[in-house]
Amino acid sequence: MMRLTIAEAVAVRALSHPDRVALRELGGRSLTYSEAWRRILALAAPLGDVPAGPHGRMVGLLLPNGADAALAYLACQVAGVTAVPLNSRLAEPELAFILDDSGAGLVLTDGPLAAVAGRVAGARRVIATSDLPTPETAERPLLGEGGRGEAPAAIAYTSGTTGLPKGAIWSNDHFLVQIMRWGWEFGLTADTVMLVPGPLFHLSYCGLTLGALCMGARADIMPAFDPAAALEAFCSDAAFAFLVPAMTGAILEEWAARGEPDLAAARFIISSGAPGPLAMTQRAMRMFRHARVAEAYGWTEGGWCTFEVKDPATLLAHSVGWPTFGNEVQVFDADGEPAPPGEPGEVGVKSLTHFGGYLGRPEATEAAWHRGYAMSGDIGIWQPDGRLCIVDRKKDMIITGGENVYTAEVERILHDHPQVLEAAVVGLPDERWGERVCAMVVIRDAGLDPAELAAFCRRNLAAYKVPKQIEIRPELPRNSMGKVQKFRIVEALSETG
Ligand code: ATP
Repeated sequence: MMRLTIAEAVAVRALSHPDRVALRELGGRSLTYSEAWRRILALAAPLGDVPAGPHGRMVGLLLPNGADAALAYLACQVAGVTAVPLNSRLAEPELAFILDDSGAGLVLTDGPLAAVAGRVAGARRVIATSDLPTPETAERPLLGEGGRGEAPAAIAYTSGTTGLPKGAIWSNDHFLVQIMRWGWEFGLTADTVMLVPGPLFHLSYCGLTLGALCMGARADIMPAFDPAAALEAFCSDAAFAFLVPAMTGAILEEWAARGEPDLAAARFIISSGAPGPLAMTQRAMRMFRHARVAEAYGWTEGGWCTFEVKDPATLLAHSVGWPTFGNEVQVFDADGEPAPPGEPGEVGVKSLTHFGGYLGRPEATEAAWHRGYAMSGDIGIWQPDGRLCIVDRKKDMIITGGENVYTAEVERILHDHPQVLEAAVVGLPDERWGERVCAMVVIRDAGLDPAELAAFCRRNLAAYKVPKQIEIRPELPRNSMGKVQKFRIVEALSETG
């Protein structure tokens, strides 16, 4: 029996429809399927003799967002080595840490990042992808040895919103199943044009792009997220996109500023990666009026977990929908027992696509599981209709005067104020209460008094949930995936509180 790898699925596309466009870099080059496959072979060529480290043969990828950043994963698969995508926004010591931690034997890089790669690579070989010539013809046989089955395909380093990054192992099979589920459940076909607005070093964006390629679709990669360019893409031919709430918010602002143009091409929009306020979902449903707007929830270690196509009749704040195929989702209460609907607890998943442990960290790997479920660190509540609501991250929940406060609930009320654009709630140490509820907000126009916002909260929340300190700032600190970095808010508010 022959089992295709993701790379080989792309090779099959190169045979079945070589001249269709596979990848476009917005503002740059386009590659047909035939060219994409040859490019994969070009990128794979220097990977054959990568020296093995303690965890096997690893290749660091420090690439600008473009075709090579997507195809390098497949080149690694063809060469039978493991991809270690590197977040280009990390500081140099952080990049060096990941290269050392993974034991990468070589770094693929390009453009302005090549200088950074040179500085962080130490004794490793550094290869600029633009120096690798693309062969005129594909000489290599279609089905080679390559990376398949349980062999690790990629090491996804957690984004580091909590502590030092750890390398989550993704096997070729897990990757393949995840991609197939995405392709199928999101209805990707050979006619889909997928907009890729986010960084390919992130598993979700690389997985979706590779999913599009497996389906013979076209993926349009943005070198960097740009709301105006995204809006234009949805007006012309982009049908599908996976957006984090920070992107949706920026596109909504741009849409309003341009007089609400018709986003005629958009057909399926997924929101994920962080909680998004209900008001934003409602506005997004108005903006993407020809599209299904959906929510997907998951995490690096658990994979894609739940999903919901939003329906105006059943919209529910904090809902991330129902479990997806191949997943058993469970909420565990404080005693580690399954929690009934209505009772909060930590979400775990037993899945065809959860991770295979942390590289070289048996204790952290052990701690990531409970009764065979990969644990999320998120607090969820089952609804009577089987949907899951995510109300907080475990570490972000505030205990004040013995009462639990879920930050998402306070954030939802703050977002309900018409002047509030963004809000994040954190707990700060407090001598009297243990922790006190504090908020950082971004407002539409100057002139909103924090005292007025506190009064608004008092009208809508129990007294102990009302923020005792509210600071207005021009923006919230975010990481490369647009996620709010609460530890930085805690630092900032501690200085001024
Ligand atoms: P680190 O582990 O370093 O803190 P991270 O958890 O931010 O990094 P990811 O695994 O990419 O890295 O993020 C997953 C988290 O994002 C989930 O655990 C959850 O808290 C949040 N999240 C993802 N999707 C949604 C969603 N649809 N709604 C609410 N929160 C979401």
